Amino acid sequence: MSKRDYYEVLGVARNASEDELKKAYRKMAMKYHPDRNPNSKEAEERFKEINEANEVLSDPQKRAAYDQFGHEGINPSMGGGGFGGGQGFDFSEVFETLFGGGAARTNGGRRAYRGADLRYDLSLSLEEAVAGTEVKIRIPTQVTCSVCDGTGAKPGTSVKTCPRCGGAGQIRMTQGFFSVQQTCPSCHGQGKITPSPCSNCHGTGRVQEHKTLSVKVPPGVDTGDRIRLSNEGEAGVQGGPPGDLYVQINVKPHPIFVREENNLACEVPISITTAALGGDLEVPTLEGSVMLKIPPETQTGKIFRVRAKGVKPVRGGPPGDLLCQVVVETPVNLTTRQKELLQAFEASLNEGNNQNRPRESSWLDDVKKFFENLAK
Ligand SMILES: [Zn+2]
Ligand SMILES: [Zn+2]
Repeated sequence: MSKRDYYEVLGVARNASEDELKKAYRKMAMKYHPDRNPNSKEAEERFKEINEANEVLSDPQKRAAYDQFGHEGINPSMGGGGFGGGQGFDFSEVFETLFGGGAARTNGGRRAYRGADLRYDLSLSLEEAVAGTEVKIRIPTQVTCSVCDGTGAKPGTSVKTCPRCGGAGQIRMTQGFFSVQQTCPSCHGQGKITPSPCSNCHGTGRVQEHKTLSVKVPPGVDTGDRIRLSNEGEAGVQGGPPGDLYVQINVKPHPIFVREENNLACEVPISITTAALGGDLEVPTLEGSVMLKIPPETQTGKIFRVRAKGVKPVRGGPPGDLLCQVVVETPVNLTTRQKELLQAFEASLNEGNNQNRPRESSWLDDVKKFFENLAK
C-alpha cells in the first residue's frame, strides 16, 4: 500500500509552522481516536496514519529528511531512520498526550509510561439497562510486579545506564548524506538496561493477573454507552500511572420491546373484531401492565402512545413513552362454520354501497382513473 503524503494526512500546507502542525494533529487525533470511534477499523487506520505523520513532521530532523526524500527518507526499511511505526501501537500514550495526565515522567532514571486503557464489553438485558444494576466483572490485567516493585530489576540489583547510547535512548545514524536520530536498539529508548532482570516479571516490571471489579450501571444506559473506571486499566510501565477501564454497554434484544431513543416500542396483535368494535387491552410495560383503550374502527399499523412508560434517560430529562403499534391479525385455521359466517358477513358488506370500506373503494377509484389516463 502506498503511503499518503504526511502533510495531506494532517491537512496542512507544506510550509505549516510547528504550531499549526500541532493544532492540526490534535484536531485530527481527537476526531479519529479509537475511544471516540469504537469498532471502526477505518478510524483506527486513520489514527495510526495521523500519528505516524505527526511523529515525523513534529521532529525537525525527520521533517527535513521527509521534505527532501519523501517517505524513503524516513522509511525504516532503508536502514536510515525508524520511528516505531508498524510495531504495535500504544494508544494509551497518545491518549495521555491528548487529554492531559502528564507526559512520561522518569522514575529512577527510566522512562515511565501510563498503563494501557482496557475495554470490557458488558451485555445487559433491557430490564437491567433501564433499571440500572450492579455487576461483578473479572478482568485480566497487568499489575505492578510485587517482587521488584515495578523496576524490572532482580531485588538487590539495579538498572544501569545503557552503554550504547550513554543513557540518551537515541543514537544518531548517518545514512549517505543525511543523518537521523534512531531509538537505541540496545535499550529500546529507555536509556537504561537491566543486567539482572527480575525473574517474576522477566524485567518488564508488570505481571498478568485477574481482578474482580464491581461495576455500578446507572439506570437508563443504552448500547454504546461507556462507563469509565479510573485507574482500573493496566498498570503503568516503570512506575507510571495506571490506565483506565472502559466498560462498554451492549443491550441484548428483548422479546417484546425495542428501544428507540428513550421510547420503548412494541407490537400488539389484535383481532379483527377488537379492531372494528374497539375494546380494552392489557399491554405490558417494564414496570407491570397498563390498560390500553382501542377505539372502534382502529386500522392496522396505528400507534398508541402510553405517556412516560418508556426509559428514563441516563443523562437526565423526562422519561420516554411506550409506543404500542397494533397489528390486526387475520384469523387462521378457520372451521367451515366460521368461513360461512365470514362469507355471509362479506355479502352484507357488498349490500352496504362501500360505506364499510372507504379505503378499499377509494383505492379502486384511483386504479380505475389510472387505467383511464393510460388509455387516453
Ligand atoms: Zn519483577
Ligand atoms: Zn541505549
